[in-house]
Amino acid sequence: MAKRASGKASATSAIGPDGLSRTIPERIARRVWVAAGGRCTICNSYLLDEEYTGQAVMVGQLAHIVGWSTAPGSPRGGDPLHADQRNLADNLMLLCHDQHKVIDDKSLWDTYDPTTLRAMKRTHEQRIRKVTALKEERKTTVLRVVGNLHGRPVELDDTRVIAALLERDRFPDWTLRGADEFEVDLRAVPGEDPGSPHYWTAAKAHLEDRLEHLRTQVRKGQVTHLSVFALARIPVLILLGTMLDETLPTQLYPKRRDGSEGWGWSPDAPEVEFRFDRVRIGTDRTKVAVILSVSGTVDPERLGEAVGDSCTLYELKPDGITPAPTLISNESTLDLFSQTWRELLATIEVEHPGARDIAVFPAVPAAAAVSMGRHLMRVAHPPLRIFDRMQDFDTYQFTISTACADEQKGDPR
Ligand SMILES: [Zn+2]
Repeated sequence: MAKRASGKASATSAIGPDGLSRTIPERIARRVWVAAGGRCTICNSYLLDEEYTGQAVMVGQLAHIVGWSTAPGSPRGGDPLHADQRNLADNLMLLCHDQHKVIDDKSLWDTYDPTTLRAMKRTHEQRIRKVTALKEERKTTVLRVVGNLHGRPVELDDTRVIAALLERDRFPDWTLRGADEFEVDLRAVPGEDPGSPHYWTAAKAHLEDRLEHLRTQVRKGQVTHLSVFALARIPVLILLGTMLDETLPTQLYPKRRDGSEGWGWSPDAPEVEFRFDRVRIGTDRTKVAVILSVSGTVDPERLGEAVGDSCTLYELKPDGITPAPTLISNESTLDLFSQTWRELLATIEVEHPGARDIAVFPAVPAAAAVSMGRHLMRVAHPPLRIFDRMQDFDTYQFTISTACADEQKGDPR
């Protein structure tokens, strides 16, 4: 029966614009509350307690999509839905007080027509079902490594991370978030745009510090799966790869290059294979350099003084197609790239046993850079001396070495 709402909403009443409430059978009300996850279908606020005071007062309301009666004052009441069906779960949505007032306001009935409201209910309930289905083992710890790119700051808010993880049926754990906005935020490190030596040293120190925090959390058992969202200068990303624990299950998420600002892989993109060749044999077998022409082409003539006649030069590139920034768009292509990189490292290990380091000139996408670092084995492979292209000079400059601090001290160069 309709009765005047006393101001105390109950979980089983539906309140109309006339202020009268109708009792909905308990089993139907429960269906609507559970399907909505106890959250407002429109604004997603949690309705089991009051947000600001934290009091356990039921603030949710059951709202009719098609009004309870066919009378002219009943919102959407003229819809052909049969009267028997109007108090069933399919015709009821869970709303907070404010949004309920909005959809039932006479001036907005056309905006919130039954089709629109049904679509909102469907979308909300499907999302609640999907998200609440994720069990504890689908939890993943988020690691964002964000730096400037030639003066342009990278943005990556929580919403984009969550969207990317949900695509893979995962939900985020933010344990590693520090005082900065991101888990590793290099945007305030000075000297990035000219690429000054101080920048690379400071970035390396900052990375080491934050990754030590990650290792502690792994030891404590707090982190069991890692999701990496990294966008910074390529040498920093290779270094990051060397610092990630190889036994920790890790998923890399690249930034999509389709203008969507989204992160994640494109499984339908074509698979690409890679090859490596020896471009030149040097006079000193202990001197080795590698160019990686993947996202663009590295011209062997422009490597500068670092690579003289004494140095043997290898090139890794896509097999049969032209290098391009979008080349590595799915994980199987990244695996093929990483496999070729490992084969190249194994070849260098055999052919250049006395090499103190490997000079690398990488034109690779971000995920490939991280993967390069991950596959470098400190015990078997010499450290990488990473060069980066100078924006304005069309030549390459030494940036950073993957060697530990004590290894670097003994370096005569
Ligand atoms: Zn709401």
